[in-house]
Amino acid sequence: MSRKKAVIIGSGIGGLSLGIRLQSLGFDTTIFEKLDAPGGRAYVRRAEGFVFDMGPTVLTVPHFIEELFSLESGKAALGEPDFPSEVMDPENRIKSGTTSGPATSKYVNIVPILPFYRIYFDDGTYFDYDGDPESTRRQIEAIEPDDLEGYEKFHAAAKAIFDRGFVELGYTYFGNIGDMLKVAPDLIKLDALRPLLSFVKDYFKSPKLQQVFSFEPLLVGGSPLSVPAIYAMIHFVEKTWGIHFAMGGTGELVKGFVRKFEELGGTIQYNAEVSKIDVEGSLFGKKTAKGIELKDGNYHAADLVASNGDYANTYMKLIDSKYRLINQDLKVKLTRQSMSVLVIYFGFKADGLEDLDLQHHNIILGPRYEALLKEIFDKKVLSPDFSQYLHIPSLTDPSMAPPGHHAAYTLVPVPNNGGNINWDIEGPKLTDKVLTFLEERGYIPNLKERLVYQSHITPDYFEGTLNSYLGNAFGVEPILIQSAFFRPHNQSEDIQNLYLVGANTQPGGGTPSVMMCAKMTAREIAKNFDVPQEIVNGVATTPEVATV
Ligand SMILES: Cc1cc2nc3c(=O)[nH]c(=O)nc-3n(C[C@H](O)[C@H](O)[C@H](O)COP(=O)(O)OP(=O)(O)OC[C@H]3O[C@@H](n4cnc5c(N)ncnc54)[C@H](O)[C@@H]3O)c2cc1C
Repeated sequence: MSRKKAVIIGSGIGGLSLGIRLQSLGFDTTIFEKLDAPGGRAYVRRAEGFVFDMGPTVLTVPHFIEELFSLESGKAALGEPDFPSEVMDPENRIKSGTTSGPATSKYVNIVPILPFYRIYFDDGTYFDYDGDPESTRRQIEAIEPDDLEGYEKFHAAAKAIFDRGFVELGYTYFGNIGDMLKVAPDLIKLDALRPLLSFVKDYFKSPKLQQVFSFEPLLVGGSPLSVPAIYAMIHFVEKTWGIHFAMGGTGELVKGFVRKFEELGGTIQYNAEVSKIDVEGSLFGKKTAKGIELKDGNYHAADLVASNGDYANTYMKLIDSKYRLINQDLKVKLTRQSMSVLVIYFGFKADGLEDLDLQHHNIILGPRYEALLKEIFDKKVLSPDFSQYLHIPSLTDPSMAPPGHHAAYTLVPVPNNGGNINWDIEGPKLTDKVLTFLEERGYIPNLKERLVYQSHITPDYFEGTLNSYLGNAFGVEPILIQSAFFRPHNQSEDIQNLYLVGANTQPGGGTPSVMMCAKMTAREIAKNFDVPQEIVNGVATTPEVATV
């Protein structure tokens, strides 16, 4: 019997994760990638001996990675518990040394990072967040002793949200509204549906602590002013399984996923932009995806098509409107897109900087928080001040820079292209302002003199290179009315055999979520294609338990 053919558009972490899962389910999968290399947002820029991960740098939930590397052909393990007792057991949560599970270690070396983040306030003081309750309490006491009691309550509330919202419901696919109504009362009881910052303010009086316990959704494109408080679970996800780094950079993880996918028999074509999803049927009747057409005119037939590309672009640019009853242009255009980012990649001489007062991950907050968030997300204007996330991977892995140098990137949240900003003009200006700030505030003394490499990307990169509508950096914005059932569906409501995978769809953005998404999409595909249960539930022989 010939194998069913699957086509995936895009080789982001979501596309690669789905590719691995489809190969394990027995499909014959080809990934078509527009760029010349894999990773999507996790593409790697190499220049003058420096290695820059262009996007994700903070890895969480290493057992999701281990799960993917453990799959074998014909053994899709989709029936296994998503959070096996081993990974929930505190004894197995390693705080130091390597955290690669046995299957992961064959592909990439993943190590924990401590502290998770150093969070600098505008007055130059900082908070080192490392998930250790004792050190957290000590630092809270130094900032605002009255908030200690609030922290204990916040901790309990965030844990309850994590237990229900992530461990129990994280993998629930909300394909119909009934599934959502069933869980809504629980989430209301947990107070998980109101905006995160308002939730955090109930527990902390100090504006500094309000920022420390609410900034994390910004790393997946959500505003603390509008993401639902269910995102308080990020705090707990990090505390439970730590924050990790792939030695050599996230690009090494991507490389590992590509190798795994190819070992399972999958194929990737680069420089292969898909220009059309071929659909057969009629607007009010049944519609079926039959294959894809590439920009160069080549056609590839398929039994199923999965798009890892942007939600809005997939529907509006790749599928004729005559096949879209639900995802019509108007609905797609009304969907709120996440913010964008300006990211500066830079390499600098490290001589004399042995006592650099920075960590691997640094959040440098500006003078304003809420007003800045409103300008980025709602008013879509360029603010006079900024906050940034400064990443210096060469502090952990010196091989990312030439000897005697550091490789760094700093990410500044900015509005998406729904505003009116000319990035050809503003990009270089903001880049200079940010680097000057890092030098003048003493974060990196004499930075300008030390610089040996510098480049930057703006929302135009996301729009033009990654095909993301309005240059969004994180896909559809994670707000309550775009969550669960109301988020784009992993299985198209319009077209049979068309699936979506990645940050735009359920459960949402961020590397762990897109891996979860791939599993959820694979489960729907296995069901719809009647993949035999022995394959769906088959488990590779792994005598050794993956410790994370
Ligand atoms: C700067 C930045 C920093 C981030 N930091 C973190 C972090 O530290 N931790 C974390 O967990 N998350 C982080 N994120 C979020 C995370 O990177 C994303 O959620 C995740 O990588 C998205 O993966 P994806 O599979 O959805 O798709 P993408 O990475 O968006 O990949 C989609 C792919 O589809 C391709 N494509 C699009 N259209 C076509 C077409 N027509 N034909 C062929 N190919 C096409 C694109 O070229 C791309 O390769 C960050 C994001 C950014 C932008």
